[in-house]
Amino acid sequence: MLDKVRIVLVGTTHSGNIGSVARAMKTMGLSRLYLVDPQCEVDGQASALAAGASDVLRDVSIVQTLGEAIADCNLVAGTSARSRTLPWPMLSPRELGEKAQLESQAGEVALVFGRERSGLTNEELQQCHFHVCIDANPEYSSLNLAQAVQILCYEVRMAFLAATPAADEPLPAHPPAEAMEGFYRHLEQALDHSGFLIKAHQGKVMEKLRCLFNRSRPDEHELNTLRGILSSILRLKRD
Ligand code: SAH
Repeated sequence: MLDKVRIVLVGTTHSGNIGSVARAMKTMGLSRLYLVDPQCEVDGQASALAAGASDVLRDVSIVQTLGEAIADCNLVAGTSARSRTLPWPMLSPRELGEKAQLESQAGEVALVFGRERSGLTNEELQQCHFHVCIDANPEYSSLNLAQAVQILCYEVRMAFLAATPAADEPLPAHPPAEAMEGFYRHLEQALDHSGFLIKAHQGKVMEKLRCLFNRSRPDEHELNTLRGILSSILRLKRD
């Protein structure tokens, strides 16, 4: 099941960090690495720091946008050293490990890490269901990228090792990120059509709604019902 969990690095600038991440992953039994718009090559320095984990580097997937890296994922967790202005559901690394273990039984899981200098943008963080913050020294809380990856991969591994065989209860089928993005586009269209969205506040309203649906995490059936409602709104004539 560990192969259902992928590590996604966004906009990494130092190839050595990519190598160190590969090593951190492999020591914990993870192997699927995605690079979103990397700002460096996967070069000799990356291989040197990957040491015996060059297979993780060899199989790396390189994509242009975060959306592509998480399109088929049912659970997406974004990491951040700081608590941002964004009020988002938070998980500790331990809780994240447990959630990843549980949800990997029903779908794909992504753990998303940001740029060395600036982390993840608010827009990228809004594409995640949960945010994970490693509770570090408040006066110096920003870990090296690969060390942050190491801590999360360790927690994921611990949760997988502690897991008891799956109960018979069916697991919730949460829609993949791609389906949620389609829903948000549809929602925006319908709110625009109904006149609810005032152009100037569009971003804020959509941010709040993303937060709401991220928290409630509708299943596929509920999402279809919501989309049916949106379609009916779009069919109404505006006066
Ligand atoms: N100045 C940036 C720090 C970037 S560190 C910021 O404020 O976000 C590079 C990446 O390592 C972060 O984007 C995050 O993915 C991870 N990281 C570093 N420290 C972390 C922490 N304390 N908790 C969670 N993730 C952390």
